[in-house]
Amino acid sequence: MAIIGAHVSTAGGLAKAIARGEEIGAEAIQIFGSSPRQWGVRMPSEQDIAEFRAAFKSSKIKSVFLHACYLANLAAPDAASVKKSIEALTAHLAIAEKLEAEGLIFHVGSTKGGIEHDAALRQIAAAMNQIVKNVPGKAKLIMENGSGGGNKVGSEPKDLRALLDLAKNPRIAVCIDTAHAFGANQFNFEKWDAELGLKNVIVVHANDSKVPLGSFKDRHENIGEGEIGRATFKKLLAYNHLKNLPWLLEVPGFDNMGPDKKNVDILKSLIK
Ligand SMILES: [Zn+2]
Repeated sequence: MAIIGAHVSTAGGLAKAIARGEEIGAEAIQIFGSSPRQWGVRMPSEQDIAEFRAAFKSSKIKSVFLHACYLANLAAPDAASVKKSIEALTAHLAIAEKLEAEGLIFHVGSTKGGIEHDAALRQIAAAMNQIVKNVPGKAKLIMENGSGGGNKVGSEPKDLRALLDLAKNPRIAVCIDTAHAFGANQFNFEKWDAELGLKNVIVVHANDSKVPLGSFKDRHENIGEGEIGRATFKKLLAYNHLKNLPWLLEVPGFDNMGPDKKNVDILKSLIK
């Protein structure tokens, strides 16, 4: 059965995120290990880490995921940006490892039109292997599909398949964001299974979409309030391998305060 979870805030300390998840009925959480809008990564103190692990252990939360900073772009056309991105993702992955999280979810990136698509795939695969090598352990590096457009890489299953094949690394996995797949006009999950292999997907970002199919835009909406709708979520929650995964909400919330109990309850009610 799908595990319903949500992105939650770490305001006031990492350990607070566990209680916030439990308050809204989440069974898995996603957090930022460090500020998502800065290059600089602040490593949590040993005490912060110990408190988080203790809270996690004594909670009903089954799994924790980290989301990387938005600035990192492994597809960047210039070497300096790629180097900076590798350093930032290494630091975020190191935090994931210390927190005993399943892994670090990151946006594959955009070439900004500066390099050929195939060259970008090779560059990203090499960078991912470097990041994983920099952080020995179990935490996975998880590529999130994009919403297409803007020279983004990784919005289609075949791109993610090519990246898995180039990297050949068991610590690299995939996250499917429903709103991004919808925006990118990649909402056929049989195609995902045929071209990527759904077994490579270890987590879902569960978001309805404010914008239409194939809009190549990324605007998340509360479950049932957007263009995807409840009936489709119900089908997806029962689909193949997806039905056994953690489903993490990244929605605006009915009070615009982020993922809330109402969204968690709606998703839970759609599980057969
Ligand atoms: Zn997402």
